[in-house]
Amino acid sequence: MKVFVEKETCIGCGVCENLCPDAFAIQDDGKAVAIEGASEAPCVQDAADSCPVQAIIIEE
Ligand code: SF4
Repeated sequence: MKVFVEKETCIGCGVCENLCPDAFAIQDDGKAVAIEGASEAPCVQDAADSCPVQAIIIEE
């Protein structure tokens, strides 16, 4: 499974980092990225479902 954030879509709201800090982090540019091991975090799907702009992509 591969998890990534579409940078051009992300609005930097911080929801994913709050819900799933093991998988997402807001960078200096204000956008979220999927961090090392993100695909292993059980909260990834919840974070993806909660992203207001569907910027979190999960590929099986
Ligand atoms: S929840 Fe979505 S829009 Fe908000 S910071 Fe995360 S990826 Fe970006």
